[in-house]
Amino acid sequence: MNLIHNYTFEDLQEILLENGFKKYRTSQIWDWLYDKKINSFELMKNLPSDLLTYLKTNYTFESLELVERQTSKDGTEKFLYKLRDGNLIESVVMRHHYGNSICISTQIGCNIGCSFCASGQIKRVRNLEVGEMVLQVLESERLIGEKIDSVVLMGIGEPFDNFDNVIKLLKILNHQKGLNIGARKLTVSTSGIVPRIYDFADLKLQVNLAISLHAPTDDVRNKLMKINRIYSIAKIIEALKYYLEQTNRRVTIEYILIEDVNDREIDALNLIELLKDVNVYINLIPYNKVLGTNYERSPEKNQKKFLHILKRGGLDVTLRKEQGHDIDAACGQLRSKTEKNK
Ligand code: SF4
Repeated sequence: MNLIHNYTFEDLQEILLENGFKKYRTSQIWDWLYDKKINSFELMKNLPSDLLTYLKTNYTFESLELVERQTSKDGTEKFLYKLRDGNLIESVVMRHHYGNSICISTQIGCNIGCSFCASGQIKRVRNLEVGEMVLQVLESERLIGEKIDSVVLMGIGEPFDNFDNVIKLLKILNHQKGLNIGARKLTVSTSGIVPRIYDFADLKLQVNLAISLHAPTDDVRNKLMKINRIYSIAKIIEALKYYLEQTNRRVTIEYILIEDVNDREIDALNLIELLKDVNVYINLIPYNKVLGTNYERSPEKNQKKFLHILKRGGLDVTLRKEQGHDIDAACGQLRSKTEKNK
């Protein structure tokens, strides 16, 4: 049976109309789902019995079973959830002065296979359904007892490899009658699936786009991200410029700093050369060591030097304040550890 949280407002409205129910029932159903946040059709008191029967016969609720919860000293919380089919997914909630943000997973496993990533060690099993992504937000809100203010699609999986579901998710999160989270508080992070960057640009959403670049040249990037052999840096930059033209929204470049791989002076200089004329903001992220890889976190002095060179080169850049360093906060770490211990 399909999850009731899989549907955008417009999709559900159309389904109800097709099945002989009034359009305004969509608002009532969504009020139960996203305002009262109930998890049973039985509780939808204002619906007529024929509609309730129709809903119960055709749709169901996902329930995420909490398998593990880790809390960091800085308040970052990581949740490992089990889905109906037994698969595990992770979500991370971070506390900031401007509110709570959540990083959610979009797939079970990931086929992109970045060599530095814990999730990349587990091949994609399947895409997450829209409702399974929505529920990560709803369930995490319930567990922390506070509202989530922003959502980042940067957990396990490549969001653009689950494109249609991700777009529906964004619509539900953003919809006034849905979770009502502003488009500018939603961020999709991609490893650089170029055709989907063009598709995303054409949708002209006001959602943030982040690109995991992690290297200034194809030589370095090929070692870290095998997808670069399909979509080279030049192709990504071309797509990114198209995105900027279409949306007028600045793109974030994610750059994980790994010792002696991409944190050298020459890498910083090459990055300046690559990005000096593109409207981007660069987010430097100290690497979180992943078991089973030979990569090491860039030492603090290298991180600061890299930051300094980029700033001097005129780039808009920050070094991310780390969160959840004392727990398995890098995407996929908790899940891959749990899988290995099975
Ligand atoms: S970094 Fe992201 S895209 Fe790369 S393997 Fe990990 S989850 Fe997949």
